This record gives sequence, C-alpha cells and structure tokens, in this order.
Amino acid sequence: RIQPAERIHRLPVQFFSSLVSRAGSYIANGHEVINLGQGNPDLPTPPHIVEAMREAVLDPSTHRYSPFSGLPELKEAIAGWYKREYDVDLDPETEVAILFGGKTGLVEISQCLLNRGDACLVPDPGYPDYWSGVALSGADMVMMPLLEENEFLPDYSRLRTEDLRRAKLMFLNYPANPTAAVASLSFFKETVAFAEQHEIIVAHDFAYGAIGFDGLKPVSFLQVPGAKDVGVEFYTLSKTYNMAGWRVGFALGNQEVIRLINLIQDHYYVSLFAAIQRAAIAALEGPQDCVRELVAIYQRRRDTWIQGLREIGWDCQAPKGSFFTWLPVPEGWSSAKFADYLLEQAHLVVAPGIGFGPHGEGYVRVGLLAPEGRLQEAVDRLDRLKLFA
Ligand code: PLP
Repeated sequence: RIQPAERIHRLPVQFFSSLVSRAGSYIANGHEVINLGQGNPDLPTPPHIVEAMREAVLDPSTHRYSPFSGLPELKEAIAGWYKREYDVDLDPETEVAILFGGKTGLVEISQCLLNRGDACLVPDPGYPDYWSGVALSGADMVMMPLLEENEFLPDYSRLRTEDLRRAKLMFLNYPANPTAAVASLSFFKETVAFAEQHEIIVAHDFAYGAIGFDGLKPVSFLQVPGAKDVGVEFYTLSKTYNMAGWRVGFALGNQEVIRLINLIQDHYYVSLFAAIQRAAIAALEGPQDCVRELVAIYQRRRDTWIQGLREIGWDCQAPKGSFFTWLPVPEGWSSAKFADYLLEQAHLVVAPGIGFGPHGEGYVRVGLLAPEGRLQEAVDRLDRLKLFA
C-alpha cells in the first residue's frame, strides 16, 4: 500500500477539475457547451513568435542543456522590456529569474520562504495556486477578505495583530483573477509601507499586467520606490502573448528572493528549452502591436458581454482589467448551485466564486475567452432562463 506524504494531504482540492469533467460529459453527450469557466486564452500565439521558435528548434545548439538559470540574453530582454513598459530598472543577472510559467514561481516562493508556524497572507477571493505552495511549505494561510465595497483591495487595518506577527509572505494580484479589479500606484505605495512595517515579503502576481480597458495601463508593483526591498513581481507570457502552453514566466525584484527561487529551480529543473527562451526574446523585443490588438479584442468582447448582460437585467460591473468578469449571482443561489444550473440548463460553463475562497461566494467568474458571437450566444441562452424576470 502506498502512503502519500503528509504534504500531499495538505494540498487543496482542485475545485475546477470536477467542473471541467462534468462539462466534458455534456460535450460527450452531444451538447454544444460554451466554456467560459477556465482561464485558458483562446487566441493563437502571434506568428513572429512561432517563427522564432521554429528557427531556434532547427539550431542544434538549443538541443543541449541551457545555462541553469536561463539564457542571459532572455534576462536582458526581460529587463529591457520592463524598462520600456514601466520605467523599472532591473539587473538582469541578480533581479530576474526565469520560470516555467508564472505558476511554478508562485508555488516555489512559499517553499523558499515559509516554515511551519509562519503565516502567509492570501487574497480571498484569489488564485488558488497560492494556496498550493503554502500547503506544501506547511505554513498557515491567513485569508485577506477582498470586498466589493473596497474595490476588491485588502484592508490592511483589519488584519489581526497575531496574524501579522506570524506573517512572512503576502500574495497580491492586480489586475485580479477572479475579481478583475485593478490596483493604483497609491495602493501599492501603501503596500510597500505596510510590508516594511511588518517585515512581510510581497509577491505581486502581474499575470494580467498587459490587459487594461478604456485606455488604462495597469501599474507594476515595482514602479513604487522601495518595492524591490520588500518583494518580487511575477510576470508571464501566457496571457500577454497567448503563450499559455509554452510555459514562460519570470520573477523580478528582490535579489535575495530571486536567488532563492533560482536555487530551488536548480534542484527541480535544469532550465527551460532554449528554443522557447529564444521565442520569448522574440516576443519581448519584437513588435508590440500584437499586444495592443489583443487588448482591443478583449475590450470588444467585454463591451458585448457586459452590455448583453445588462440588457437582460443582470446588474454587473464592467471590469477595468484582466480577461475576467466577476458577476454577482441572482438572489437565493449559492455560486456552486448557480454554476451547475447554468451548465445543465444553458450548457454554459462558468467558475463558481466559492472555488476562489470563502469571500468568492455570491459570485461567478466568467472569462472573455470566446469570440463576440459566442458571448452573444451565451447572453441569449441566459436570457431564455429569465433569471431576472
Ligand atoms: N496567476 C494568475 C492570477 C493566473 O490566473 C494564472 C493563470 O491562469 C497564472 C498566474 C499562471 O500563469 P502561467 O503559469 O501560465 O504563467
């Protein structure tokens, strides 16, 4: 009999896998399912990036192990891109780590920094992968409620003194999954001051950094003076360049945290396939109109979707960033029951808010991850349910 290690029992239940498998059974039964429940970009990677990868694969030097902490040229490309995009200075050698997608770094940072008995502040609702790293480290999670009346930002003044004493790490994520909230520079300044005061390391997840609506450019945490002293930012090419399957992300900022992330990565991986790293350089140093087009596509989808929902009587906020919409469920429903109902009656997959933490209850997350025509079809199906009649 195989007995899993104790840490395996601590891993959170993957709430969405059951939804995905149920949606799969509807598809297998011939239903035409519209899946807006997952965060998987539906658009292709821009052709010049694919071409750079093709050329790199044909070069035999990419077939060998590449340097442990990644190609120096890629780290330089990342530092150059951050300078151009956010006017942030980064030393490529000591302030940049290359990751297998943002997700690995978001799990590894907890293992780098947390011991049993420590606490980690996590957003509630928030991206569940933060919980996984905390669980593997054996530390305790302290959920920070993100409330609509506070624009889904944490209220640091409401955290308990005993939690703050034990807290060593805090995750933040703006533009946010799932709430689609964005943060201002002044909120990040307040965060740096809070982190300094309580000696907490900040891990800001900037996965949706490229996606802001109505001309808004989301701000980087590293734009705040002193941010590098207290934390790191995680970035990924998954959303910005539709490269979710390629698995390229970065951690940027505090040198000691970057050193630890590189250290743990050395033990798990050698480094990302060099051809993919070269494609990442092409993404960062190539023309950026593909990113502007991407944002324009999401903006049109957002407008179609939100306008459609409002026309059928669903009172909801238009997101300012990310590719998610965060919708209050109608009176009398739990988020899980409502998501089930939409799957059964409208063959529409949405993510129940409870999967993102207790304060996600009362909402569902819907991704703008289908063409406008499909989103309109989803609105029509919802209309037929007469939810707000
Ligand atoms: N962070 C957030 C908030 C996300 O939603 C995702 C992916 O959905 C990630 C990080 C991970 O991205 P990746 O591992 O593809 O870089």
